[in-house]
Amino acid sequence: MDKDTEILQLTAEIVALNEELSQKTKLLEDKKKKFLTSSDISRFSRQMILPEVGAEGQKKLKASSVLIIGVGGLGCPSSMYLTSAGVGTIGLVDYDIVEVNNLHRQLLHAQNNCGMKKVISGKLSLKHLNEDVRIITHDVQLDANNSVEIIDKYDVILDASDNLVTRYIINDTCVKMGKPLVSGSAIQFDGQLAVYNYKGSVCFRCLHPKPQPPETVGNCSSAGVIGPVPGVIGVLQAMEAIKIIIDHPNVLFNNLLIYDGGDCDFKRIKLGNGKREGCICTKSSEKILINMDYEEFCGSKANDKIKILNLLEDSERISVKELKKLVSENTPLLVIDVRKNNEYEMCHLPFSINIQLEDLNTDLFSSRLIEKINTCYKKAPNLVAICRRGNDSQKAVIELKKNTALLSKVNCIKDVIGGLQEWSKKIDTNFPVY
Ligand SMILES: [Zn+2]
Repeated sequence: MDKDTEILQLTAEIVALNEELSQKTKLLEDKKKKFLTSSDISRFSRQMILPEVGAEGQKKLKASSVLIIGVGGLGCPSSMYLTSAGVGTIGLVDYDIVEVNNLHRQLLHAQNNCGMKKVISGKLSLKHLNEDVRIITHDVQLDANNSVEIIDKYDVILDASDNLVTRYIINDTCVKMGKPLVSGSAIQFDGQLAVYNYKGSVCFRCLHPKPQPPETVGNCSSAGVIGPVPGVIGVLQAMEAIKIIIDHPNVLFNNLLIYDGGDCDFKRIKLGNGKREGCICTKSSEKILINMDYEEFCGSKANDKIKILNLLEDSERISVKELKKLVSENTPLLVIDVRKNNEYEMCHLPFSINIQLEDLNTDLFSSRLIEKINTCYKKAPNLVAICRRGNDSQKAVIELKKNTALLSKVNCIKDVIGGLQEWSKKIDTNFPVY
């Protein structure tokens, strides 16, 4: 045999051996999933001695996969408990990065991980909790194009997202793919929990055939949230996911659990047993297409990022640099911070006064404002509205310009582009961003 033929023959043998090796590895991995090792038994003994779990339940957990969509306030606690409980595979979906304002509630992300992708930060922390668990990261925004491919790989789906668009996409895909969906939400002091599409139960659309108007749906960024509320709901999501995997008889389906953290009160509302007539969940899988324009349907975006409004003419607006110049030149100036009182208390510019947007044109504040101008200013001042990001301040200018008595007392009425966030970025980096 010449050298070339020998090389070809050896190469073919290597390919065959590699194939055999990968098949054997896969078989071994599958076998491992079905059997508990002695370290598994030591580690999970406290839950395995419960008759509802037992060795069978623990094997089911080990062989199962859970997808967590959103590695934020809900996804952090739920993923920690599921990883620690011995779920074999955890998928994490998130496109966002860790920010300092996440840390009070998203306990999976360490302070040092600010600026890191949430899926990476999450995977690192979860591996510290249990290195045996396989963590798969999906560094994408879930949308109508990728949802089927991602959701299809998992047994149980957790909706830990922060917006309505994603909720509808997750629901429709879970219905199409026949996946149980554990849905959680948290805002301010309130949380909600439900299991949809489980053993023929109702789906999210049965309850919400039409989305709530976007202006009535708050988010944690603008409405705020107290840390333990998503903690409570996220832990309960993990609990329901475990119950689904071990086939516990009392999974929370056809029910909605409402948590009022302010009153420390749980209410459970029965949703009835029937699916809503004509709902997507009454159709066969192949007839369900995930191809609608979900953002148009909801009238909002698939993330909690704030939309920048453009309500005023350029001539009605000034930059933070122009504001700084007016202050340093001692130009007659009245700066009204139109944020909520408690936000003003958190931080404000020393030369600003606080009148909340909704109070601007009330008789009380209007007369106070005119009185202030009459007593404190020799020349008609420039009136400048400022807020957190430069959206409400534009609305404030529109409101203030309706006040004809005020108009005759001021030189001009303008707002500050980008608000206090821009001030913090360009003028005073010590000014807090929130
Ligand atoms: Zn339905």
